[in-house]
Amino acid sequence: MVVAPSGVGKTSLTRRLVSDHGDLHLSISATTREPRPGEHDGRDYHFVSRDKFQSMLSEDAFLEWAEVYGNFYGSPKAPIMDALNRGESVLFDIDFQGAMKVHKQAGPDSVLVYILPPSLAEMSRRLHTRSQDSEEVIHRRLSRAKDEVAAWEQFDYVILNDDFDRAYADLAHIYHAERLKRARNPWIGDLVNDLLREEI
Ligand code: 5GP
Repeated sequence: MVVAPSGVGKTSLTRRLVSDHGDLHLSISATTREPRPGEHDGRDYHFVSRDKFQSMLSEDAFLEWAEVYGNFYGSPKAPIMDALNRGESVLFDIDFQGAMKVHKQAGPDSVLVYILPPSLAEMSRRLHTRSQDSEEVIHRRLSRAKDEVAAWEQFDYVILNDDFDRAYADLAHIYHAERLKRARNPWIGDLVNDLLREEI
């Protein structure tokens, strides 16, 4: 799971990781917020009405859900389970509360990555440049970022995004190393048994 305050480049990092790795499935969240310019239904989010979100909630269709800045967001369970059953890894681009909920359910098999901005001043500059939020929302995002950053020790990895290419390389290395972990590759046991049976 990759978590970061808004305006830190998280979406660009996660989208590139998914497009570079065929065995990585991006969980597309459902949200009640309005699409931003350039966002597409089904690619960036499933944009749904509040009624639809409520009915998905009552059908227990979400692995986790949260209210963020007055809108509802949830990770639909079925596509996540399908991807896991196909042996793929699942990437969640969700907020801090959601990441903690998934971590509680998935346990040590989930990996928590936090992306740090070089400074709050730089984060504020990026939020103003993309000019998608009001001053009030930007202020709320910045003060929330401070609370999240303070919880940095709950994450397995912390990446500093002061340079996109370096931050991306760090993220990709984390993904590769995590995929290579012994516990995620049970076939190694069979290979070792075959090796041990070989006559020397
Ligand atoms: P935005 O509206 O800027 O796309 O997203 C606002 C925040 O909601 C971001 O931190 C984003 O990662 C988070 N978010 C997006 N989808 C989900 C989700 O399904 N669950 C949770 N808990 N947070 C989400």
